[in-house]
Order: sequence, then C-alpha cells, then structure tokens
Amino acid sequence: MLEYNLVIFGSGGVGKSCLTMQFVRNVFMEKYDPTIEDVYRKTIEVDEKQYSLEILDTAGTEGFSAMRDLYVKSGHGFCLVYSVTSQATFNDLTEFKERINRVKDTSMNIPLILVGNKTDLVDERVVAKETGQLLAQKWGCTFLETSAKARANVNEVTEEDLFATIKHIFVFLF
Ligand code: GDP
Ligand code: MG
Repeated sequence: MLEYNLVIFGSGGVGKSCLTMQFVRNVFMEKYDPTIEDVYRKTIEVDEKQYSLEILDTAGTEGFSAMRDLYVKSGHGFCLVYSVTSQATFNDLTEFKERINRVKDTSMNIPLILVGNKTDLVDERVVAKETGQLLAQKWGCTFLETSAKARANVNEVTEEDLFATIKHIFVFLF
C-alpha cells in the first residue's frame, strides 16, 4: 500500500486538530488539547486504490526547530490552515511556507493546500475568500474554505458535501 505523509501547519487555535479529527474519526471536538501533537493514520481509497495516510497534526506556534525541519523533510504534502476569523493566522502562514521552501528542494512542486477554516463564524470573518484565493494563486496551490464545526450540524446532504470537501483536502495531494 502506498504511504503518504501529510503535515498540517498553522497557528494555534485555527482548527488543525478539529479538521484532523473530523477526517480521521468523523467527530467534531469542541475542545481539543492544544499542546497535543500527534500522528493519525487512516486508510483512504481513491480511484479504487488504497492509500495509507499518515497525518501529522502539529502543535505550538513558537517558530521552527530542528524537529520541525524533520517533519518538513518527511512530509509529502502540506496543509496550511488559517482561521477566516483572524488576520494574524493568515499572515503567519508565510513563515510556514518559507520554511517548507527552504527545507524542501524548491525546484520541486510540493503538494500544498491552503485552508481557511471556521467559515461558520460568518459574523466574525475578517479574511475574505478572495484574499485566500489570491495567496493560493501566488503560491500556485489549491485553496479551500472549510468549517470543521459545521459538518456536525448540517443535514445529511450538506454533511456529505462537507465531508467531500474535507476529504478533498487530503486526497487532492495524490
Ligand atoms: P488547533 O490549535 O489548530 O489544533 O485548533 P483546534 O482544532 O484545537 O481548535 C481550536 C478551537 O477552535 C476549538 O475551540 C474548536 O472548537 C474551534 N474550532 C475549530 N474548527 C472550528 C470551526 O470550523 N468552526 C468553529 N466555530 N470553531 C472551530
Ligand atoms: Mg491542535
């Protein structure tokens, strides 16, 4: 079975763990220990092929370390998450991107997805969808807006759509 390592980066509180949990366990966790950094495994099927996905849900915002560099080296794909309710978390992603470029061979096309989470918080939105789209254009990567939370609150059809979206974050990389 083909194995892929996906690394989730982003500032604290943007919903990295919630997105990971939704994907791996199909649940929304209102509270998730912000200090937990862990690897989750899930087998996924894409075009009738099975893949073993290893998802690294990173924690902590205090810059990069030798440890982080190791993550980056072993990652096949990266998910950069911000919250649409926080401009700072959007700005923070540039540093993650630069680090990925530095550690990886930049001449390679690194699978990358930019994710704006918490779209259910309509009244608190400060980062416009277009702003995310522009950055994704600049980086030449895919862009998605998600709500890890809404998935648990919507009717079946929409739920399925949302699941497809969340799943897409991961399967797109292949
Ligand atoms: P992490 O630090 O990036 O792993 O963030 P968490 O996944 O722990 O989420 C941080 C907080 O944001 C938690 O209180 C979650 O309940 C909340 N949260 C995560 N995703 C969403 C979302 O899509 N919508 C809303 N409203 N809250 C979310
Ligand atoms: Mg977390």
